[in-house]
Amino acid sequence: MARLIISADGPEKFDIWKKAFAEVAPDLSVLSWYASETRLQPSDYVLVWSPEADHYPALATAKAILCTGAGVDHLLNAPGFPRHIPLVRMGGEQTGQLMADYVTWAAIALLRQARTWALQQAEQRWACNTIARTTDATRIGVMGLGHLGGYVATHLARVGFRVSGWKRSPATLTGVTVYAGQEALSAFLETADILVNLLPSTPQTDGIISKEFLKRLPRGAGFINVGRGRHVVQTDLINALNAGILCGAVLDVVTPEPLPATSPLWTHPSIIITPHVASEASPLMQAQYVAEAVGQMERGEKPALLCDPQRGY
Ligand code: NDP
Repeated sequence: MARLIISADGPEKFDIWKKAFAEVAPDLSVLSWYASETRLQPSDYVLVWSPEADHYPALATAKAILCTGAGVDHLLNAPGFPRHIPLVRMGGEQTGQLMADYVTWAAIALLRQARTWALQQAEQRWACNTIARTTDATRIGVMGLGHLGGYVATHLARVGFRVSGWKRSPATLTGVTVYAGQEALSAFLETADILVNLLPSTPQTDGIISKEFLKRLPRGAGFINVGRGRHVVQTDLINALNAGILCGAVLDVVTPEPLPATSPLWTHPSIIITPHVASEASPLMQAQYVAEAVGQMERGEKPALLCDPQRGY
């Protein structure tokens, strides 16, 4: 029987995970990383989020590490993290659905300038901002067309947006115009009335959303960040909003997190902030995904969302 050791979310959340795995994978032996009797064996799988550095020597002896996050930059960037052990990122149907729902909400909020309504409501002020912009007349560009970006782009196309996407390697995706590589970036940005960032954080993508980059968008574009805060040069974003280069931004990820109370992002009249909540599947759905990935590895198969540490995602 395969063994899964749970370190994710600390000792206090172990019972929630144990219950979820008991429901979806009763054959999996689930143990707490923090139980004094738990001794890691080379055939064990470990579920982590952000383990302490003193866990790394033991993690280096595991068969595979599975992360409760789809982004694993915090692990790959941590000095001493055992990058040679297979690392599987979070995925699954519900993770994609939640992200697609969030981005659809954010895109329509930008289209209708919903931030204005929230500001007015806080002042109990009734003022009509009627905006006749519809999804079918709006071009939306998704940067990063991986597990989540692909899901989001096809969903936005079904909703009625005119969708394009940008990724490293060429691909085809139903209802989506795909641009590939650095040489296609300008052409892609010109098509984005709303830009969605779903890139992973890597040395190539950190700081990509800069002054020069934002100027290549159609004037008055909207911006949704669900990738990582590190992708954005924050002062360039604020300047672009103040100059009308952007009409508004919805930021689920920022730097640092939690966002300090002193950050100007909180009070900017064109920014909606959400606290990194776009897509976190329920423990049951995450357990189902993890159990399937463990099953694949037990059969000698390669899980779809196996991270490539050289590539950084
Ligand atoms: P994937 O690894 O599946 O997809 C990454 C995509 O980005 C791929 O299409 C890849 O291209 C593309 N890409 C990577 N580097 C470049 C580059 N230099 N230039 C152009 N394209 C590039 O990741 P996921 O879709 O699973 O997740 C994306 C990110 O979303 C995560 O890394 C994380 O940061 C963020 N996230 C945010 C959450 C939230 O709640 N806000 C929740 C979960 C994740 P190619 O296909 O050609 O390799």
